[in-house]
Amino acid sequence: MTFEDFQLDDDVLDGIHAMGYRTPTPIQEQAIPLILEGKDLIACAQTGTGKTAAFMLPLLHKILQLPADGINTLILVPTRELAIQIDHQVEAMGYYLNVKSLAVYGGGSGQSWVQQKQALTKGADIIIATPGRLIAQMQMGGMDFSKIEHLVLDEADRMLDMGFYEDIIKIVSTLPKERQTLCFSATMPPRIRKLTQQIQKDPLQINIAISKPAEGIRQLAYMAHDEQKHKLLLQVLLEGQYKSVIIFSSSKEKVKRLEGEFRRAKINARAFHSDLVQEEREKLMLDFKNQKIDVLVGTDVLSRGIHVEGIDLVVNYDVPPDPEDYVHRIGRTARAASTGTAITFVNEKDLRRFHSIEKLIGREIEQVPLPESLGKGPAYHAPRPRPQGAGSHSQSKPGGDKAGKKGSGGGKYYKKSKPKGQGRAPGGAGPQA
Ligand code: AMP
Repeated sequence: MTFEDFQLDDDVLDGIHAMGYRTPTPIQEQAIPLILEGKDLIACAQTGTGKTAAFMLPLLHKILQLPADGINTLILVPTRELAIQIDHQVEAMGYYLNVKSLAVYGGGSGQSWVQQKQALTKGADIIIATPGRLIAQMQMGGMDFSKIEHLVLDEADRMLDMGFYEDIIKIVSTLPKERQTLCFSATMPPRIRKLTQQIQKDPLQINIAISKPAEGIRQLAYMAHDEQKHKLLLQVLLEGQYKSVIIFSSSKEKVKRLEGEFRRAKINARAFHSDLVQEEREKLMLDFKNQKIDVLVGTDVLSRGIHVEGIDLVVNYDVPPDPEDYVHRIGRTARAASTGTAITFVNEKDLRRFHSIEKLIGREIEQVPLPESLGKGPAYHAPRPRPQGAGSHSQSKPGGDKAGKKGSGGGKYYKKSKPKGQGRAPGGAGPQA
């Protein structure tokens, strides 16, 4: 299958080619035709599967068929990072399109609040917002959602974990009843079912390899006592040929400590955690993206919605408590078509969690012996996981499964207006900063 098969607008196809996408990913193959048909959708897909383009491409196509007339599409996301990431993707995909998007999220300066307000009232084709910030803006009044035709909930499970259920319902209650609603979620806990029943009409469901990390990721594990982990990590970093590395640890205290230790070892590393203000986080992300920082050490705040190409190593300094967080974390490397390495340090207490991960991904993770200089690590004793089939690609009416988890929140404002060739007449309603 090729992108041409979807019969998307030529300008959208140009955008796809400019992004370097050659063939649709499985979620795109399944979701794009259904979204073009106007169906409501529940898509069970994790980050790294190409889910953003799966909804953005058909929505951009649809937006281009219409005259610019106020806010057409609202995308609700759990975190400021994801809002920015999606906004950047829309910008990259829509470079030649006269489609305006706007990211709205909390934590910015007073000025960005005013800018968001102005932009929201003047209108943009696509708004990407965290629910809390959008509600706050809505309470100020003056916003016109009457032209909204598409609502997307991205990382819906995470939004619910963050307590956004009521906010989402409140926002949806202000939208036109006649609309298309798309719900993307990495997991499908019962609360998602409850939510979708309230806000969707006869949704179709797509499941994409929910628990399966991308094929290109080489997954390794070391059995290591806590007191061995630090030296092991330094050895991995100093001996490996890695240019861009993300390290996940369980608490921000550990993350800060690791940052200090890396600095002493002259490793160009920075910590990313919830104590940083939004501007600091953005600056860190940009520096990491531009390879001014080699190593980013973070808590799970980092694990979703961070879109950086070319990460070649992800290290789990601690085994994540939820096996699906493992999949999200290592999904930071080997995105779509590339390759990468994921290394997990497992102490004796984390063995059970490690087994859960192996069970979830349906395979054993290759174990690497500790370097002799570090002494003996904990013994691996394990119920060997039963091999199970790879992820399913099915399309059905919703059923039910799985549990969800936690996250972080936030936001700011981006404005853009692109020159454009054909398609829509340039100029319609657009945000003015
Ligand atoms: P997402 O799951 O939306 O976070 O996307 C993961 C990564 O895959 C992003 O870097 C996208 O740019 C990339 N991507 C999305 N669709 C494709 C495709 N069809 N071919 C190659 N890369 C893609």
